[in-house]
Amino acid sequence: MGTILVEDIRNQLANYLTEVYKHLHQHPEPSNHEWETQKYIIRELEDNQIPYKVMAETGVCAEIRGAKAGKTILLRADMDALEIMEDTGLPYASQKDGLMHACGHDAHVAVGLGVAKLLGQRADDLCGTVKIMFQPAEEKPPGGAMRMIKEGILENPKVDAVIGIHTNPHLPAGQFGLIDGCILAASDRIFITLSGQGGHAAAPHEGIDAIAMAGQFLANIQNIVSRQVSPTDPAVVTIGKIAGGTRPNVLADRVVLEGTARAIREETRDLLAEKIEKALLGVTEYWGGSFMYEYVKGYPPTWNDKSMTDLIRKAVEECMGKENIYEMENCLMSGDDFAYLAKEAPSVFIEWGTGTPELDNYPWHHPKFHVNLEALPCGVAVVTQSILHFLGEE
Ligand SMILES: [Zn+2]
Ligand SMILES: [Zn+2]
Repeated sequence: MGTILVEDIRNQLANYLTEVYKHLHQHPEPSNHEWETQKYIIRELEDNQIPYKVMAETGVCAEIRGAKAGKTILLRADMDALEIMEDTGLPYASQKDGLMHACGHDAHVAVGLGVAKLLGQRADDLCGTVKIMFQPAEEKPPGGAMRMIKEGILENPKVDAVIGIHTNPHLPAGQFGLIDGCILAASDRIFITLSGQGGHAAAPHEGIDAIAMAGQFLANIQNIVSRQVSPTDPAVVTIGKIAGGTRPNVLADRVVLEGTARAIREETRDLLAEKIEKALLGVTEYWGGSFMYEYVKGYPPTWNDKSMTDLIRKAVEECMGKENIYEMENCLMSGDDFAYLAKEAPSVFIEWGTGTPELDNYPWHHPKFHVNLEALPCGVAVVTQSILHFLGEE
């Protein structure tokens, strides 16, 4: 076959990719309501004579079956936008008030359609099957990935490997961030109510001051990550919201706290949940108060398979040059339901550079988040090349 050159993709597909991206960017839809996005994807697949299946209500799975038998690989592209008011000032900014593609899932769909178009043209020469998973609701746990797995996306034919791609505004367009092992953390939520007993602020000994109790609890849990978790094992416990009390001269009888916990190992995740509970037991016993506690597990951590990461390294080197491989030193503490796919088959999640060096590059979920359109052909080239290698083409 020969190398897929990003120049060729630029010549062949840059206009198409830009058009798809701009359309989707102007028409964002929230999690589980990706109806117009789904229609758009289906229309594109039909135009390119690519078979597909509707899944998880608003999702789509495209399937390119090669003329010859072989392995099966899946590319995942999530589709949903966020309830954020766009503030980029771009001519193709969101046309919907309060909704924005601020995580770049529109760019993921554009790459998915670009790869489908390219591989669809080569189906006669392909050995094996390529599934392209257009997935709803990544931003809203429990998310669309698990749903599509339950509906059988990894079967018939059985998927041997999975590729995921995610925009990264901190890397310039053309670069690809890779890491062996863990790439994304588990992201869990914490809900707590601490209950004491009201009374006069001038007679605290006659009541149970829920605010003082919460203060001690907050101080105690700062020790969890620093003293109970190994210094080489990344973890976070953050209480991001606290509310309690009504006025200055009344003892608060209740404080509500909400937060998040992150970890990359399942055992650490369980340890965080347990230590928070122990801190609550200790503080309420000391003060004579009580608590309600919920530790809600979100997406699990995402682990990259070494052979799959190497597959992408090779493709980046061939398509973009070795200097465009960015070896990440650390994983990210954000989460993604790609993790469920990564548990089922050897997988790789690619940090795809979509930044613009000369501009401010705002982070994901920011009203000024933007994607450098130059990145689109690079993403399609690297993913297509990786898929072809996986299916045995050199
Ligand atoms: Zn996001
Ligand atoms: Zn995302």
